[in-house]
Amino acid sequence: MTDYQGVLDHIAEAVQPHFGKGKVADYIPALASVPARKFGMAVRTTEGDLFVTGDAAERFSIQSISKLFMLELALQHFGDMVWTRVGKEPSGDRFNSMMRLEHEAGIPRNPFINPGALAITDLMMSLKGDTKFRIRNYLRFLAMTDTVDSNADVAASELAHAHVNRALANLMKGYGNIHGAVDALMATYCYQCAMEMNCAELATAALPLAGGGYSALHDAAVISASQAKRIGAVMLTCGMYDSVGSFAYRVGLPAKSGVGGGIVAIVPGKMAISVWAPELDAFGNSYVGTHALELFTNLTHTSIF
Ligand code: GLN
Repeated sequence: MTDYQGVLDHIAEAVQPHFGKGKVADYIPALASVPARKFGMAVRTTEGDLFVTGDAAERFSIQSISKLFMLELALQHFGDMVWTRVGKEPSGDRFNSMMRLEHEAGIPRNPFINPGALAITDLMMSLKGDTKFRIRNYLRFLAMTDTVDSNADVAASELAHAHVNRALANLMKGYGNIHGAVDALMATYCYQCAMEMNCAELATAALPLAGGGYSALHDAAVISASQAKRIGAVMLTCGMYDSVGSFAYRVGLPAKSGVGGGIVAIVPGKMAISVWAPELDAFGNSYVGTHALELFTNLTHTSIF
């Protein structure tokens, strides 16, 4: 059996020379003050075992990783209808790019770029009840803790600077692909991005994706096997924005990143892995986190390829 604890502790040491080369996200002012040298990593196996290293118990802003859980929620509530609002093709553009959206008449390429996530959140807001409450409860359920929450300062800070995202939402509204009010959508989107989790919670939350929908910890099929397969495919092809190809080349796992410096990856049938290191590369993905995952799959031979 692989010594996952030994591997994680080794990686925490081995990535040290990579600090100082990326940049903490500062276009959301509240994120700019996060200490750059944090590093946490967690592995949650499909049997339910947990291995952690470094700052794995410290919560951080999950940002775009929320898009993964929102897609799960939307598929549970709306099934394949979701794919009438967003595509499932990689975009090749920056996560908040506007260019392609106009060419493609307001239908975002996939649910993981910002316009796609806005369309998914708008879809969820068409349900009765408080969407923020629904998001928070779902993440608490997935992470198996009652204390996971959204950081109000981070949400307010993003909301005050959400000019590009607001423009994306307005453009889509003009094309008929946002149905509700843009102001309420922006507030809910910033709320979901400001959810905070730690590495251990994130790996737990992603466990159903690694288990064909089943989580040994929840002792239940949280999503269907078909949904787990589809979401994994979208992670592999769209989860790391416009560096998805080089990430697949280096790490070889379906994954989803966020500008808070988190990445969650899955090894189908085996485990969910999460890593947090706030410095980002030019594509908005964790610089050190990508190195850590690359080391992990090299050392444990867990790439899907
Ligand atoms: N809240 C961020 C935004 O909309 C999320 C982006 C990300 O994590 N890549 O810009």
